[in-house]
Amino acid sequence: MPYNRRHIMSATLSATLTTLTGFAAAATKRPIVRMPSIFVGHGSPMNALQNNAFTRTLDKWGKSIGQPTAILVVSAHWLTQNETKVTVDVHPKTIHDFGGFPKALFDMQYPAPGAPEFAHQAANLLASLGAKPSQDWGLDHGAWTVLHFLYPKADIPVFQVSIDYAQGGDYHLAVGKALSALRDQGVLILASGNVVHNLRHVDRNASDGLMASRPWAQSFDSAVKAALLTNDAKALADYERLDAGAQLAAQTPDHYWPLLYALGAARDGEAPQFIFEGFQLGTLSMRCVQWG
Ligand code: ZN
Repeated sequence: MPYNRRHIMSATLSATLTTLTGFAAAATKRPIVRMPSIFVGHGSPMNALQNNAFTRTLDKWGKSIGQPTAILVVSAHWLTQNETKVTVDVHPKTIHDFGGFPKALFDMQYPAPGAPEFAHQAANLLASLGAKPSQDWGLDHGAWTVLHFLYPKADIPVFQVSIDYAQGGDYHLAVGKALSALRDQGVLILASGNVVHNLRHVDRNASDGLMASRPWAQSFDSAVKAALLTNDAKALADYERLDAGAQLAAQTPDHYWPLLYALGAARDGEAPQFIFEGFQLGTLSMRCVQWG
């Protein structure tokens, strides 16, 4: 009875494989560690192709954080109006949401899996704020140009939460605070923007350095650092009054708001660690911060 024998053999093989897979899972299962909340200044997408002080820091930073179970990204490049969306895709696509860059940048992919279960949990945590699951996004360059260095294997599930651009600072802090619970399940909260970002006032010829090429950029970045050190969330939410430099430094707040998500997800007693400080193109603050 060749059919039966083959059937029995295949059943035995399948049982053995299940057992082996079970052992493998048990062997690799790590205790769930609370992950930090981080803010990354992403700057130009060209960083993804470069080896510079900023990208080398990202390389090391990912290793020091360790392996999250999933990564929740809030990017300056996903702005929605009067709603907060959460990506629930199984295979999020890499979005090349820019123009005028070399083909090598458009060829880059970040094929990480999605994290639909965590994404639905995130939407539930934000239910009172009216968050909705979404399949009309993917991973924008605010996410993948930095994940490319933090987690180059692209093997950790990633999902994104949008920024409701109709809202003010208190709302963004509140969303971060609500999402903070996911950290206890090993989810890294990664907010990606820039403390100072005004593309009309970048200095194309300036070299990367610790100091900005313009006083307004320097003063706003320093004022934000000081407010972070005193954990003055109220002042940071009301950034326009924080420093006169705000008018140019965050003329449109799209790249500033992500900072409030990372800060909102910080816990009491977690002091900010400044992982990277400095400027690219004269006025783009590349400040990176970690809580927890
Ligand atoms: Zn950007």
